[in-house]
Amino acid sequence: AVMAAAAPGAAIAAAPIITATSIKVNVSLAEAAARAAATGADGVGLLRIEHMILGMNKTPGWYISQNKEEEFITELYNGIKVVLDAFPGKPVWVRTLDAPTDEFRNMLGGESEPIEHNPMLGWRGIRRDLQSPDQFRMQIEVFKRLWDRGYDNLGLMFPLVGHPDEFLKAKALIAGWGVDVDAVELGIMVEIPSSAILIEDFCKAGISFASFGTNDLIQYTLAIDRNNELVSSMYRPKHPAVLKLIRDAIAVCRQYGVECSICGQAGSDPKMVEWLIENGITSVSANIDAIQKIRETAARTEKRMILDAVRLKNA
Ligand code: PEP
Ligand code: MG
Repeated sequence: AVMAAAAPGAAIAAAPIITATSIKVNVSLAEAAARAAATGADGVGLLRIEHMILGMNKTPGWYISQNKEEEFITELYNGIKVVLDAFPGKPVWVRTLDAPTDEFRNMLGGESEPIEHNPMLGWRGIRRDLQSPDQFRMQIEVFKRLWDRGYDNLGLMFPLVGHPDEFLKAKALIAGWGVDVDAVELGIMVEIPSSAILIEDFCKAGISFASFGTNDLIQYTLAIDRNNELVSSMYRPKHPAVLKLIRDAIAVCRQYGVECSICGQAGSDPKMVEWLIENGITSVSANIDAIQKIRETAARTEKRMILDAVRLKNA
């Protein structure tokens, strides 16, 4: 190959790092969209909408009880649109609402939230949405309008799914509300051990993608409260049981051609990402500040894997 000679004294721009692994970014606020896009990420592997919704200071139930659904829909639509606009042509996986009930307590409508001893194990994620379809529908209306406006880079990700039936129920509801569910990406968070164990059934149920929510997957696999300092030393992302669940699930997803990603904090840890790529993951979503390092890690790991494969072939 002929390399173009740089003019003497001219600064040579660093070549962009190309990776086979899709390097995505986690986003929570519309205000962070530009900074997230500036990392050059290949998409958004987790758009948390809790901050947008909690920031409204009224519970979803309040909007419904006051017949003010349109207010909720407009605000959420505007927030998500900013992120979609920052990532044209790149996938943006928006997670449906996943806030525990105690986080709604002090808002308008908070008095109607159930009181739970264990909110993290309770009425949140897809469970809440399946039990209160009116609240689910309000969110889906936002996505439907965005799809109708041509935002085909928008994908939905359901949190805290533990059984394929929950995915199928959510999909059926969405179809019933007029969305062409075969034309859009619908995926799940793998953050309850049961969904990792049953990943093959989820693939057969037609998920478009799966993303490890390791923050929860670790706490539920190891029975370690992720917010309890007394046991934080036992919160081990690389615990062999966690790694086994992840490795096996990646292998099954590959078999079914289902894109497999990670959006928990472990996806921002270079050592973990190296291990994930070695074990076949094809997508990683990291925090904004970690993107560059994760991209370098992915490139280095991929290069080493290629060299190892060639050496093995030539041996
Ligand atoms: C996770 O559980 O890893 C995750 C990304 O979700 P959250 O941290 O919002 O629970
Ligand atoms: Mg989670």
